[in-house]
Amino acid sequence: MKKRIAVLGSTGSIGTQTLQVIDAQKEFFEVEVLTANNNADLLIEQAIKYKPNSVVIANKEKYDYVSKALNNYPVKIYAGEESIAQIVQFDNIDIVLTAIVGIAGLLPTIKAIEAGKNIALANKETLVVAGELINKLIRENKASILPVDSEHSAIFQCLSGEINNAVEKIYLTASGGPFRKKDIDFLKTVTKEQALKHPNWDMGTKITIDSATMMNKGFEVIEAKWLFGLNSQQIDVIVHPQSIIHSIVQFEDGAMKAQMGLPDMKLPIQYALSYPQRLKSNFQRFNFLNYPNLTFEKPDLNKFKNLAIAYEALEKGGNVACALNAANEIAVDAFLKNKIQFLDITSIIEKTIGKTYFIKENTYKDYVETNSEARKIAKSLIK
Ligand code: NDP
Repeated sequence: MKKRIAVLGSTGSIGTQTLQVIDAQKEFFEVEVLTANNNADLLIEQAIKYKPNSVVIANKEKYDYVSKALNNYPVKIYAGEESIAQIVQFDNIDIVLTAIVGIAGLLPTIKAIEAGKNIALANKETLVVAGELINKLIRENKASILPVDSEHSAIFQCLSGEINNAVEKIYLTASGGPFRKKDIDFLKTVTKEQALKHPNWDMGTKITIDSATMMNKGFEVIEAKWLFGLNSQQIDVIVHPQSIIHSIVQFEDGAMKAQMGLPDMKLPIQYALSYPQRLKSNFQRFNFLNYPNLTFEKPDLNKFKNLAIAYEALEKGGNVACALNAANEIAVDAFLKNKIQFLDITSIIEKTIGKTYFIKENTYKDYVETNSEARKIAKSLIK
């Protein structure tokens, strides 16, 4: 039986790579649902090529356009973010791959979990914002999360076969981003074009900026806590500029297991879809002789304060990481629109967290309210 996949955010970087994986493994997977926000043309093209049962365009104004273009094809067309949240619950879906960017990915993920689906999770913001609630829902609904993020996929792969063996700590590797070797004065003058040039990975704009500020690594620390049940002292970040070792688990006896390979998101995507099986692939293979030096450095938390802020948010718990995510989304958007400087992203996050009302135990409604309060605060800080 082929696994039937809903690809949320099919027009993005992870979404398009997921479709490449499915294309190469047609005997194992088929596309059931595709969704996009605005990119109607690509969604139409994908619908014609992959013949899903349904497509959703989140921007309702584009419904007629998509509908007209797909008039002669046997595909159901829906519009609106609420339709994405509904469609993930359909019986004909085995795996929901969540590659929507930002907090917009939260509600569809929750609905898919409530329907007991397997989630291939790329949308890390879901766990950053509401990790505690998501874990509770996973337990209650017997759903499961398979990580797509390369670091978490690496940890997940290292943990395979280690069911009763306690983890001492994990090391999440970080490339260090484009400004690893720059000083703080340089960071003051960074342009969005410079920040959008990631040395090793080709990704969507938001995560690329998050990587440049190291907010992304901070999010991954929080994501790791919820995925693997660790505390903040058990999660270390090590800068590894070559991005060959994707992450490491250290067990109680001191043994360390690492997962490595060339940086290519298609491998963790495929693993999340095919788990527990590994499928034969033609992904480019790693050659040791091309990488005679694999190097490691301590992250500079003075220069990349966002990583320190994420650790603090993890310690404080409650809705702090939700406020952090909201402020970051607003600040990154403002930076991309040239409204603020690179280092303002951090100060907006810090101030927003300081001003957001703290809630220890959060329901879904609390997260929604925290998100909207923090977004308002962050916006008020942008002149
Ligand atoms: P992109 O910006 O490339 O793609 C985002 C996708 O989400 C697009 O399909 C976009 O549609 C859709 N989308 C955006 N906003 C909404 C909305 N409000 N409602 C519905 N759909 C929406 O992002 P990436 O693929 O880079 O990242 C996706 C997620 O995966 C992020 O959470 C990121 O952190 C995570 N991730 C990404 C990695 C990567 O290598 N790119 C690696 C690890 C994790 P449209 O195209 O129409 O705008």
